[in-house]
Amino acid sequence: MSGFSATVITLYPEMFPGPLGVSLSGKALSEGAWSLQTAFLRDHAEGRHRSVDDTPAGGGPGMVLRADVLGRAIDAVAPPQDPRPRLLMSPRGAPLTQARVRELAAGPGVVIVCGRFEGVDERVIEARGLIETSIGDYVLSGGELGAMVLIDAVVRLLPGVMGAAASGDEESFETGLLEYPHYTRPQVWEERGIPEVLVSGDHKRIADWRRAEALALTRERRPELWEAWMREHPPAPDRKRRRRTRPDD
Ligand code: SAH
Repeated sequence: MSGFSATVITLYPEMFPGPLGVSLSGKALSEGAWSLQTAFLRDHAEGRHRSVDDTPAGGGPGMVLRADVLGRAIDAVAPPQDPRPRLLMSPRGAPLTQARVRELAAGPGVVIVCGRFEGVDERVIEARGLIETSIGDYVLSGGELGAMVLIDAVVRLLPGVMGAAASGDEESFETGLLEYPHYTRPQVWEERGIPEVLVSGDHKRIADWRRAEALALTRERRPELWEAWMREHPPAPDRKRRRRTRPDD
């Protein structure tokens, strides 16, 4: 099948497609805009107990997913010539960003390894070139929800998935700013109106208002994003002053 191909290696394949099977991503899945395969980690275990994990070398709590079992699972779904990046969901990984989501959406797909328990044997990360990816600075009990977050963010950017409704270009993080506030009918709700400018029909004023709101929100809530945006969009020099100080301009 053509389109974006996601393969998830997990101890809980029954979690998929789960929420990815409804709404936008579910419709895109049934229309073939993307495809989803799961690989059950236990199918790659050996021995009478088919164990996938063992106690940590050096001691300590919990269990660690075994390198040999994970290695076999990865090789079975993604042989060396498979061009898809191999990710490991991990709180130690590079935080997922909209820029990274865009990059992944432009590629052939992803192979995602979901950790469980204390995590995975470090050697499989190195040997299979797994790219550790975090969805935020908190700890989940497993990589599956992280994989779903990543796939959801990518799938909505695939060609045709959002349709004409939105290109996504003005959304939070796409411009480097948080998005401006939205309103819809009714015009008055619990005595609250819609900002007058939005019902003015003046497209230039509306665009200016939205930009100003986006800037103010970003400055207030995410000062580090605002500073980065200001560095890239320095305020236009004041023409009159420039003329006065640099007469030959
Ligand atoms: N002991 C580990 C946490 C293990 S949590 C540590 O302290 O770093 C179990 C699994 O959940 C991880 O292997 C990973 O696959 C997943 N996980 C937990 N938090 C995550 C996060 N913020 N982003 C992505 N995956 C996460």
